[in-house]
Amino acid sequence: MAKIVALIMAAGSGERFSGKGPKTLFPLLGVPTVVWSARRFARHPAVDSIVVVAAPGEEERIRSTLDDHRVGKIARVATGGPTRQESVRLGLETLDADCGFVLIHDAARPCVGADLIGGVIGALSAGGAVVPVLPAVDTLVRESDGAVDAILDRVHISGVQTPQGFRAALAVSAHRSAKAKGLTSSDDGSLVFALGEKVKTIEGERTNIKITYPEDAPIAEAILRAAFAGEEA
Ligand code: C5P
Repeated sequence: MAKIVALIMAAGSGERFSGKGPKTLFPLLGVPTVVWSARRFARHPAVDSIVVVAAPGEEERIRSTLDDHRVGKIARVATGGPTRQESVRLGLETLDADCGFVLIHDAARPCVGADLIGGVIGALSAGGAVVPVLPAVDTLVRESDGAVDAILDRVHISGVQTPQGFRAALAVSAHRSAKAKGLTSSDDGSLVFALGEKVKTIEGERTNIKITYPEDAPIAEAILRAAFAGEEA
């Protein structure tokens, strides 16, 4: 059976968050952010194993944090690179040959629900690439020199979340091809799209927020408290 591996991206520096060390180690209700994220995949019955990608020099700290919180299914902690895209590529290169599908998830989204993970896996059976999206709720404008330059049509505009699911070979070739062509993106589905492949969308979760700025932390804590009470240990 082709294995399903979760690739948890935790190699960011967290400059917009605090600039003081990896934001993925920041505690939410006393539990490091990366633990919340990895745990949701470890506890999902369809996920076989987990590879966590850490910043160079942070591998041991991330590994012992995951061990301290007894996060299961961790196959390895891989070493990331200077950009998210490079970290994902380096993580993908460590996947074992029996990995059929990969779920790429930002550790900075610790509130991901089991239903969304299951939804991505379910939709993968019908295609090689699946991304969760939510329609934009704000009006979107383009700005230039501190003024509105253009109004974007909100219809058909969506924000993209993680986890994003891929046939593992497709994710690897999208990342290798992007590197070869000098193509950059903050999103893996875009790199698969650039190959001319279909990227299927499913509905994301409003609560699957990405922790980017310090004020996001108390919002994430409120979501975690409501959804996963009792899992703080
Ligand atoms: O910085 P940003 O919030 O967009 O990062 C999204 C995710 O990618 C985070 O979970 C972060 O740890 C990860 N990342 C990474 N390697 C980098 C930069 C970001 O794994 N060089």
